[in-house]
Amino acid sequence: MDDTIAAISTAPGVGAISIIRVSGTKSIEKVNSIFEGKDLTKVPSHTIHYGFIVNNTQKIDEVLVSVMKSPKTFTTEDVVEINCHGGIFTTKKILELLLQNGVRLAEPGEFTKRAFLNGRIDKLKAESVMDIISAKTDAMREMAINQLTGKVSSFIHNLRQKIIEILANIEVNIDYPEYEDIEEMTIELLKPRMKEIEDEIEHILKESQNGKIIKEGIKTAIIGRPNVGKSSLLNLLLDEDKAIVTEIEGTTRDTVEGEIILDGFLLNIIDTAGIRETNDKVEQIGVEKSKKLLYQADLILYMINQNQPLNKEDMEMLENLKDKNHILVVNKIDLQSVIDLSSYEKNHPIVYISTLEQKGIENLTEKIKEIFQLNKIDQKDLTYLTNANNIAILKKALDKIKEVKIGIEENQPIDMIEIDLKEIWNLLGEIIGETYQDELIDQLFSQFCLGK
Ligand code: GDP
Repeated sequence: MDDTIAAISTAPGVGAISIIRVSGTKSIEKVNSIFEGKDLTKVPSHTIHYGFIVNNTQKIDEVLVSVMKSPKTFTTEDVVEINCHGGIFTTKKILELLLQNGVRLAEPGEFTKRAFLNGRIDKLKAESVMDIISAKTDAMREMAINQLTGKVSSFIHNLRQKIIEILANIEVNIDYPEYEDIEEMTIELLKPRMKEIEDEIEHILKESQNGKIIKEGIKTAIIGRPNVGKSSLLNLLLDEDKAIVTEIEGTTRDTVEGEIILDGFLLNIIDTAGIRETNDKVEQIGVEKSKKLLYQADLILYMINQNQPLNKEDMEMLENLKDKNHILVVNKIDLQSVIDLSSYEKNHPIVYISTLEQKGIENLTEKIKEIFQLNKIDQKDLTYLTNANNIAILKKALDKIKEVKIGIEENQPIDMIEIDLKEIWNLLGEIIGETYQDELIDQLFSQFCLGK
């Protein structure tokens, strides 16, 4: 890690400026060797300098160079950023010059990885950098910023602190029984403390469901028999002709997807091939996909028509949907009604629409908001864990806490309980990257864009 790395940090393509970032002990010296203007090795930290990038005597580009000395930099190493003109050719040329001078091309995410390994940011914060880059809504960005500024980290740190205090207390009791002024960690004292930690973890796990909605959006599948108007609904919601609407049954051969933003929340909508028995091979694949989606989606819009009686498949599907987030969308209300859904009202939220006359769409979006309680999700104070991996780890920690509680009830010796507590402490550490495996870290950082 003591070599000096460089990468183009701005998006590839033509722009007004491009930035090449260099980090490492030799970054100032290396840039200085291709810079004409002043001696960068003599300038104060956090200053910007005008000059030219040169290849021997040949001027390559007119640039502004920022010099930031260790430790107050993103990676905590010496960092130099070259702001050059934004042509792809020129930017690459400058990078090549650096590489010829013994600087190594950074791996994807390596700047952030260095920031993490040098202790400048923890794993949660590092993950949030990627979330900021890929944010599609304000709420996504805000949540990532909260994670970056350490709100979530400090929550986990506090939990760990509480556990380490208990552990320390137990250790002292075991190793130095002669210190009578130190409170003995009895089962009675342990009980309320464990309850407190359990409540906090349960709370954040509950909240994290909202975090998932904000980060990943609500995966919504439109399902129903051929010709009920699924593609028409998707088009209407997306406001474009992405799905093909035709009158021949089974034209939505495969799934068609799109995204809409509903009050700042992302809805990924998928129009599926009609669910029905079919002999057509291509369509069959689509039908299989639809059934799979049933299990993966966060929300199912099950569509039927007002002018068609429910058939056996509809009834079966609706029965299967009872325990899922779903809406029974009754389309074509511009046509004569032949159905009575009063017996379905109890188990199925129902919305009546006409995609042809563009009626009822607002009721549908309102219903979605109601089901996910989007109005109640606080988009301002987003201290949620969003990464599925981290959520899984936290769930494991919660299971362990429950084991500890059983141990307490069963009067297990305190040193047995201590083992479980250590494990919980380690699990929480994994979330912020304090007990990490190198492989995991490499995997995480390789997901970053080059130059970040
Ligand atoms: P899909 O197979 O479920 O995707 O259905 P489509 O969206 O392709 O629609 C099938 C047919 O129903 C098309 O001819 C649409 O114009 C028609 N259609 C869709 N919505 C309505 C509606 O609200 N009222 C009426 N009368 N026809 C509709």
